[in-house]
Amino acid sequence: MEWTPTRAAGLARLAEFLPYAGRAYADRRNLDLGPADRSNVSALSPWLRRRLITEEEVIAAVLGRHSAAAAEKFIQEVAWRTYWKGWLELRPGTLERFNAERIALKAALERDRGLAARFARATDGATGIACFDAWVEELRSLGWIHNHARMWFASVWIFTLGLPWQLGADFFYKHLLDADPASNTLSWRWVAGLHTQGKHYLARAENIARNTAGRFAPYGQLNEAALPLAEAEPPLPAAPLAAAQRHDGGPCALLLTEEDLHPESWDLAGEVRAIAMLPSASVAVPDSPAARFSVGALDDAAARVVAHFGVPCMKVAAADLPTWLAGRGLSTLITAQAPAGLIRWQLDDLAVRLAAGGAQLIEQRRAWDDLLWPRATAGFFKLKTSLPAVIARLVLDPAQPRLL
Ligand SMILES: Cc1cc2nc3c(=O)[nH]c(=O)nc-3n(C[C@H](O)[C@H](O)[C@H](O)COP(=O)(O)OP(=O)(O)OC[C@H]3O[C@@H](n4cnc5c(N)ncnc54)[C@H](O)[C@@H]3O)c2cc1C
Repeated sequence: MEWTPTRAAGLARLAEFLPYAGRAYADRRNLDLGPADRSNVSALSPWLRRRLITEEEVIAAVLGRHSAAAAEKFIQEVAWRTYWKGWLELRPGTLERFNAERIALKAALERDRGLAARFARATDGATGIACFDAWVEELRSLGWIHNHARMWFASVWIFTLGLPWQLGADFFYKHLLDADPASNTLSWRWVAGLHTQGKHYLARAENIARNTAGRFAPYGQLNEAALPLAEAEPPLPAAPLAAAQRHDGGPCALLLTEEDLHPESWDLAGEVRAIAMLPSASVAVPDSPAARFSVGALDDAAARVVAHFGVPCMKVAAADLPTWLAGRGLSTLITAQAPAGLIRWQLDDLAVRLAAGGAQLIEQRRAWDDLLWPRATAGFFKLKTSLPAVIARLVLDPAQPRLL
């Protein structure tokens, strides 16, 4: 499996995977056949994460090939990404708290030799637990591991190796091609037993042996009796989602960020006169597959956006955007809404500075997010049950699938 950071490569992988996205996926998705065989899962997450390809077009393509019943499981999995995003959008404080804890634990690594040694053994893939060490190697060399392996990995990290989940989430985040604040942080919390409080995910040797095609059998090596983690203060209750913003026409500039790299499908009412792109905010390990994917994805989007709008695109740091916009005689900058994370924090600051100069930042939310994020108030079930109604609004136009 090769992850080339272009929309064309994402669409090609989607086309290749389509025949398997129906019942075959539902039956076999939990198998981790190893890096040489990813035929039973889509491996689309690096492209979906940045919206080089969108949820709507993936689902439309799958429904063009399979019945809704056969594709149900695959569509629900795609919706897990939306669920995690929505959940965090309604409780952004959870990410801020994770970030503070992560920084404090990084500092503890400097002081606590025992913790540092255990952390180094885990991240060097030198624990002696063959499956875990192999996943570390896969993560470092490819930047991607199977969903089931991520669950086992996180569980072994927390319950067998006794390491803080926040350091594991940080390690994943710096190596994954699809590194995503919502899916990553909240999945680690889910494994730990903090998302659904008191309900953790315990990796069992039997389950690993059964689902890794005979590659691993860590019998006697895992703590299969650990209790869930607990935290003194549970996350704050969900806050209502702010109303989506919208540009009603007139000249504007576009701002591209790595949170949404398919502006060709943004619902734009304005006349695009200039285009800027925020440099990557990736914190991936330098020169890693993840770092290269991040930069490549932005370059691909820049080339496409120029061809689509017929307007040049230049990289502009967030701090320079007010001057850049004013220099073009414009006062409206439009972008796709960035969910909680580093880009979101940059845009919050940018909006204030633009407003101070009489300009405005308009963050347009995609209909997919607007309809589904408010359903992420508690567990996945509520969002899952609203999927059929949302998908019924999907126009299955292969050229540009969209939600009405
Ligand atoms: C501890 C842990 C950390 C994770 N960190 C990330 C992360 O940083 N970024 C990330 O994109 N995903 C993360 N995931 C979710 C999931 O493992 C990946 O999205 C994934 O492996 C996708 O593989 P795939 O594309 O073959 O999925 P498929 O099984 O083919 O599913 C299709 C699509 O559905 C979405 N999807 C499927 N399962 C999940 C899931 N459990 N959560 C969210 N979306 C899902 C993805 O967009 C995926 O491309 C994490 C899971 C765990 C357990």
